[in-house]
Amino acid sequence: MDTVELAVPPEANPTFHGRDVFAPAAAKLAAGLPFRELREKAFSLAFMIVFILLLRTLFVQAVNIILMPKLGTRIWCKYFCPQGLLIGLISRIGRFALVKDESLCTGCGICNQHCSMSIDITGGPAVIRSGECVGCGVCVEVCPRKALSMTTGAVSGVEKSDKVGV
Ligand code: SF4
Ligand code: SF4
Repeated sequence: MDTVELAVPPEANPTFHGRDVFAPAAAKLAAGLPFRELREKAFSLAFMIVFILLLRTLFVQAVNIILMPKLGTRIWCKYFCPQGLLIGLISRIGRFALVKDESLCTGCGICNQHCSMSIDITGGPAVIRSGECVGCGVCVEVCPRKALSMTTGAVSGVEKSDKVGV
């Protein structure tokens, strides 16, 4: 298999340079350039990228499916993703927190049902600092007792937690 380097045009956008490399190729095809000619330069590289992404997806899904009975959902994100680990560590020292007023909470579990990140808000501590929380605010909205709030300020009068993924 030949490996061909596609040059990045000097005018390419630094963020969307993939677009600026492949869009001209698509334009040449649309203008009638025989695919064979383009393929000789681009196909091996594009195929390799797609193949690596496909392998990665299959591997992640296999890990998720095999371990799901023991560890629950989103296993790759919680235990193996290096980006998730970094975000989790940063969240431990960050100021963002989800605060639960335990004098108002009835333990109904509605917040847990609506949290798309599967965070245990109902059973968690009064102050949740989770690297998995995306700060969507849905739990705050759906709580019928208005027991939840989000803060980036100092939290006092409640137990602090620095657990990741609570
Ligand atoms: S929805 Fe509100 S009252 Fe119900 S468990 Fe969650 S925080 Fe507590
Ligand atoms: S803010 Fe969103 S992600 Fe964070 S705990 Fe609430 S529902 Fe879950």
